[in-house]
Amino acid sequence: MHIIDIINKKRVGQALCKEEISFVVENYVDGNIEEYQMSSLLMAICINGMNAEETSYLTECMLHSGDTIDLSEITTTKVDKHSTGGIGDKTTLVVAPLVASLGIPVAKMSGRGLGLTGGTIDKLESIQDFNVDLPREAFIGQVKKIGIALASQTGNLVPADKKMYALRDVTGTVSSIPLIASSIMSKKLASGADKFVIDVKVGKGALMQTIEDASALAHLMVEIGAHHKKEVICLLTNMNAPLGKAIGNGLEVIEAIDTLKGKGPKDLENLAIELGSYMVHAGKGIALEEARALCKENLSNGKAYETFEELVKAQNGNSKAIAVSTNQIDIKSDESGIVTKLDANLVGQFVHDLGAGRETKQDKIDYGVGVVLHKKIGDRVNQGEVLYTVYYTKEISFAALKKAYQIECFLEEETPLLLEVIR
Ligand code: URA
Repeated sequence: MHIIDIINKKRVGQALCKEEISFVVENYVDGNIEEYQMSSLLMAICINGMNAEETSYLTECMLHSGDTIDLSEITTTKVDKHSTGGIGDKTTLVVAPLVASLGIPVAKMSGRGLGLTGGTIDKLESIQDFNVDLPREAFIGQVKKIGIALASQTGNLVPADKKMYALRDVTGTVSSIPLIASSIMSKKLASGADKFVIDVKVGKGALMQTIEDASALAHLMVEIGAHHKKEVICLLTNMNAPLGKAIGNGLEVIEAIDTLKGKGPKDLENLAIELGSYMVHAGKGIALEEARALCKENLSNGKAYETFEELVKAQNGNSKAIAVSTNQIDIKSDESGIVTKLDANLVGQFVHDLGAGRETKQDKIDYGVGVVLHKKIGDRVNQGEVLYTVYYTKEISFAALKKAYQIECFLEEETPLLLEVIR
């Protein structure tokens, strides 16, 4: 078999067979296929696509390119949650303790984030002394003891995705739906959970910009899951505006804690309840409405918050000491009206420029920087009122974020947070 024949086949839009896909993945991971050949093939896939069968084969080959996590010692149904990524998305910090407080074991390994703002592990590291590096036995032992562990990925999980994603990132081939589906699903299947609830973000601040693309991605992931006999439930949720009010690692942890105490922003609370309900519904095999009532109850009676505190204590953290910069500045509105748009991408870029994200794995994150948005879509604002507070350690143009806001006389219609559920 020759890589050039496989590239040519995909260039003219033909489907690849399992042997060809397996040849590509194995030889690329082993370094026998050159980066320029792989980027050419990825671009051909980007342009000509892959059918569901090819995507499923690709996922399977990627999944078997490295280690997988064995969670079989935890005998009850394990439901993992994933998000395709959005600005201000700290939902895992709320949902994980929420469902754990209802008896769904959470054994979650996450990576550090590349991109505009940090990932879940970065956010947890903004809690003083929080230990994200748990050896396998300690990780499983903690889930058995307190029902939850959130740790940084160890072992050689899906090396094919690590290599392919890094190449896609620099070759304009991230936005291919089959490549995204196989990337996400290979990692999810390697994580050892039984069922998956995936938050597919749609809008300006997301990878999927239209509901049609998000829906195609969701259907593909559900199909890949079915092929592996694992249930996948996708919630398509709006990501035109940032989620919640806080964007930046430490600030997001504080907002997640507020939400666990019933004092968080409504959009974050509602999304956490929706995702949590589907996880509890799938994990316990109970009706969705019953699961939703349980989630609401454990958010309001403090049980979800208690589980978060138990988690922080078990992993050596101090939730009273969260990184937040002491340099703060309030930025005021130049005009009066109603906020009709709030561009998530511009907000993410601004927070990234403050130092909250990283471009390469080696970059250091500034955990204490970020913004708190005092006005969101639908809010009335008067000239001179504070629009947002910036937490900074270096000077950039703080007024630049005003461009993210559109302030008008009326708001025609607000897009709902939950757009569709695909399962
Ligand atoms: N997230 C992933 O894990 N992979 C992709 O390809 C895109 C988003």
